[in-house]
Amino acid sequence: MASGKHAHSAEVFHTRGQYPSRAVISRAAFEHNLRKARELAGSAELMAVIKADAYGHGAVPVARWAIAAGVQWFGIAQLAEAIDVRREIGEGPHILALIAEPGALFAEAIELGIDLTVSSQAALDEIARAGARNGLAARVHLEIDTGMARGGVQLEEVASIAQSLAEYQEAGLVKVVGIWSHLACADEPDSPVTLEQVKKFEQARSLLAEAGVYPPMVHLAASAGLLWHPDTHYTMVRPGIMLYGLSPNPAVATARELGLEPVMQLEATVVSVRDVPAGTGVSYGHTAHTAAAAHLATVPLGYADGIPRSASNSAQVLVNGQRTAILGRVCMDQFVVEAPAAQPGDCVTLFGAAPQLPTADEWAEKSGTIGYEIVTRIGVRVPRCYTDLDDEPLENCD
Ligand SMILES: *Cc1c(COP(=O)(O)O)cnc(C)c1O
Repeated sequence: MASGKHAHSAEVFHTRGQYPSRAVISRAAFEHNLRKARELAGSAELMAVIKADAYGHGAVPVARWAIAAGVQWFGIAQLAEAIDVRREIGEGPHILALIAEPGALFAEAIELGIDLTVSSQAALDEIARAGARNGLAARVHLEIDTGMARGGVQLEEVASIAQSLAEYQEAGLVKVVGIWSHLACADEPDSPVTLEQVKKFEQARSLLAEAGVYPPMVHLAASAGLLWHPDTHYTMVRPGIMLYGLSPNPAVATARELGLEPVMQLEATVVSVRDVPAGTGVSYGHTAHTAAAAHLATVPLGYADGIPRSASNSAQVLVNGQRTAILGRVCMDQFVVEAPAAQPGDCVTLFGAAPQLPTADEWAEKSGTIGYEIVTRIGVRVPRCYTDLDDEPLENCD
């Protein structure tokens, strides 16, 4: 069964389960969000994006949950991540590596049946050579740069690369499985950029068709496209963030408004408490002073664990049913809150799904970032603990 020890980290951290914080990962919430995404996708296939260790939730346990719920496609960023995940989950579901650098482990990836992104002629040639050495056809998806200026083939190059794809396919060196691109402004529903990108995507598809290449998987939409641009769904959608219960843009609609349930709840154990008089400077730089006599609690999570330093004096946590803001600067390993009734050993919850809790999106707003960054940066010192469908803890949850 899914287990934290696969998901995170280096085997040297034998006592990780005893670290004073935990991220509780809810299977029930994940499956709920998956159902929502499926409803929106309709007849389109769903590729669950599990890059960056499933946005910090643990790629292998999350992939296993998704497989059990019928997901047959996974998207992951780096080729090496795809190889690691394939070795854990075994054959069966498709895994597409969205990125591959020159000299990446193409031969291994082809042998493991990993789908590869072709983002340039040079990448295609390298992939075809690796396939030839193996006597295997590499499964490839052509990436088009329709407006991110980040990855993929520019429109002017599509005709010639389409010719190469046709030739390599004819020679049995590649199998063209997909064509894809990525939207830059899909989380601003009124942006004209999305329509321009769709147009370019259509042009690229026509150029491929002219070369006699008809990839069955056509995919453009991530969460924001899936939620807000039904005309971008094509034959497959690639949601990531919404599966983890966060909104691609809370200013457009919050997770709650979208009917999503945050999957990660971040907790820690109070290390120590102290009573201090009015005017006490707190943490590095004394950026905060107590307004009155105060009871302070120290929480063993810091920026090394992914707590943004920019959340200093701003983000809130829940202690003993009460919300309270971080007092002073977030340190590397700890921060301080004012919490009148707190005792050492009490549980502090930073964010989660329950209505009284701050959300990761709220933390993002307080720290000048996005929810994606809050959850993906939760560090290796924080054990992930996985719950079953009844929200009962399975592992690492004691
Ligand atoms: C990250 C990513 C996704 C998923 O994006 P979300 O906004 O998390 O849904 C899909 N496709 C590509 C190419 C990505 O890089």
